[in-house]
Amino acid sequence: MARYAYVNGRYVDHRTASVHIEDRGYQLADGVYEVVGVREGRLIDEQPHIDRLDRSLRELRIAWPVSRATLGFVIRELMRRNRLTDGLVYIQVTRGVARRDHAFPTKPVKPALVLTTKNAKRAEAEPGPGVAVKSHPDIRWERCDIKTVALLPNVLAKQAARESGAYEAWLVDGQGRVTEGASTNAWIVTQDNELVTRQSDNGILAGITRGTLKSLAKDLQLKIVERPFTLAEAKQAKEAFVTSATSFVLPVVKIDGETVGDGNVGPTARRLREEYVRFASAGEQVT
Ligand code: PMP
Repeated sequence: MARYAYVNGRYVDHRTASVHIEDRGYQLADGVYEVVGVREGRLIDEQPHIDRLDRSLRELRIAWPVSRATLGFVIRELMRRNRLTDGLVYIQVTRGVARRDHAFPTKPVKPALVLTTKNAKRAEAEPGPGVAVKSHPDIRWERCDIKTVALLPNVLAKQAARESGAYEAWLVDGQGRVTEGASTNAWIVTQDNELVTRQSDNGILAGITRGTLKSLAKDLQLKIVERPFTLAEAKQAKEAFVTSATSFVLPVVKIDGETVGDGNVGPTARRLREEYVRFASAGEQVT
């Protein structure tokens, strides 16, 4: 467990860190977050994550709780205090503490800023045996592009997946199309070797890992097509994988109990994971 958390200007013992019960994040899920991966003491894609935080805040009309420069400093200070070399930094901003009312507080309140870190084993370039996913209806709202802490549909989908022995849930819309994972973006490699992932619109979160992987794939001369794909198409694909700040590039070898390809990790996912790990090891050293 990390030793320190950052809560509204203070570095406090993580075990007793707390916010007020009238925090709108707690009462109304009125807040946003970011998860930035850390590898070998380096922040992975820090600026794109902070840019996305800025966008989420603007979409919900929540002010920045501190300046961008201060946030950068707090991230680094918390990493140093917690001796974080591999894992993640969690950043959360809520609209702040106010008497409970659905509408925004009429008097200005200071947005609340919380940061924590989590240690993890250093991710291997080697992908391992791959994971299983389970499909689940996508019952979320129409602004999945905003990274809000309102994650209940994602929580229920992930739990259903875990109870069926799968690692991740793939969310499927009314037309049978996979939007994304409960906490990852979804990709397939078609029989024509096209890399397919859903276009980033209001239906999905524009993953930072997804964006970086698009440019790495381009460098490898892979053909990327951004369009919706169906669950049926995914089951017929050569390969499938998911991406996120914490899972990097994770091959999917089973969808709803059916094997993808021959059931082994394919060459494209393997190569992309290698490239991503190389990229992740090249950032600015913090700890
Ligand atoms: N989609 C959802 C719903 C997520 O929660 C996440 C993880 N935050 C992602 C996609 C992947 O985004 P990123 O690559 O920025 O971690």
